[in-house]
Amino acid sequence: MKSLGIYVHIPYCAKKCAYCDFYSVPSCETSRAYCRALVKQIESYGKKSAEYIVDTIYIGGGTPSYIDAEDISDIVGAIRRTFKVDKNAEISIEANPGTLDGGKLAIYRSAGINRLSLGLQSVHNDELKMLSRIHTYEDFENSFLLARLEGFDNINVDIMYALPGQTPEKLAETIRTVAALSPEHISFYGLKIEENTPFAYNKTISESLPDEEIQYKMYMDTAKTLEAHGYRQYEISNFAKDGFACRHNIKYWKCNDYLGFGTAAASFFEGRLFSQVKNIDYFIEDPLSVFLIDSTEEITPKKFETQYVMLGFRLSEGISLGEYRLRCGGDFISKYGERLKPFIEKKLVIKTTDGFRLSRRGMLVSNYILSEILDFDED
Ligand code: SF4
Repeated sequence: MKSLGIYVHIPYCAKKCAYCDFYSVPSCETSRAYCRALVKQIESYGKKSAEYIVDTIYIGGGTPSYIDAEDISDIVGAIRRTFKVDKNAEISIEANPGTLDGGKLAIYRSAGINRLSLGLQSVHNDELKMLSRIHTYEDFENSFLLARLEGFDNINVDIMYALPGQTPEKLAETIRTVAALSPEHISFYGLKIEENTPFAYNKTISESLPDEEIQYKMYMDTAKTLEAHGYRQYEISNFAKDGFACRHNIKYWKCNDYLGFGTAAASFFEGRLFSQVKNIDYFIEDPLSVFLIDSTEEITPKKFETQYVMLGFRLSEGISLGEYRLRCGGDFISKYGERLKPFIEKKLVIKTTDGFRLSRRGMLVSNYILSEILDFDED
């Protein structure tokens, strides 16, 4: 039996954050109908399901904790009815402080959800306000402690850096405060100004972003502080205590199969990469319609190889020569050895016992390195 990850997209938020370009709407009026449609779409995979064992489920969004917890429980139930779910499956849900309470957390636990990902971003209330987050740091702390009380022993906290006006000292305070709470996992992302978001049209925001040198310091200092607190960096933006790396996200970086359910969800399944249209109403109207597929691409061996190297270098362990041969065929060194040399000399790429990985400095310029070594235009 092949292992499979399942992603479920919940496209509802209490309010849109000014920097966010994920597909979600600031209301949950249609969430019940949407969840019923999700159950139908999940159940339609009944015939395929016998070949797979689901070992990770990730309920993301949007803000899944914004909608009724019973609806979330129904979705997990539909997955369990349709697929064989491993008894040790990692089942994550994204949640925002300000949308959680003990009742919801208890329902998640009884549905078997065992990992909670809390969107905090900063411990400074002025920064949260500037990002137009709906919560304060105090709300986050309450949610975190409530989750511990309800038995969540695998919690991720999202933190953002390179915020407008942010100083390395302010960021360091965020990192120290969160690390002191000892969540099992910390995701640490740089703010990107995405097109068509309120931030993209705000000159004051773009003019107050920390420059590259400061961003470099923020990244390097944070990685060191987190390591000193017992977190191991396992991916460009992710740190975890031993045994708590996110198994679902590792599937993406290792090019393993995953199926996405719901509007805007992407899948990498049976040699195809496909995503669903971003339209809640269409989805509710007919979740089984073939017209919901927005784009579909057959993954040729060449495309798979490019993807495998591109995503594999995001991981701290990098690319293993043996695993590369197994997954992509061919010899990694004869294809990439020469191309990697200048980066090895600059210590941006490091030779490991069985392959190559990016150094932490290399991770910061990973896009540049990859654009130099990969053949993006070949089929
Ligand atoms: S809560 Fe998350 S998904 Fe919703 S708007 Fe904010 S950043 Fe985007």
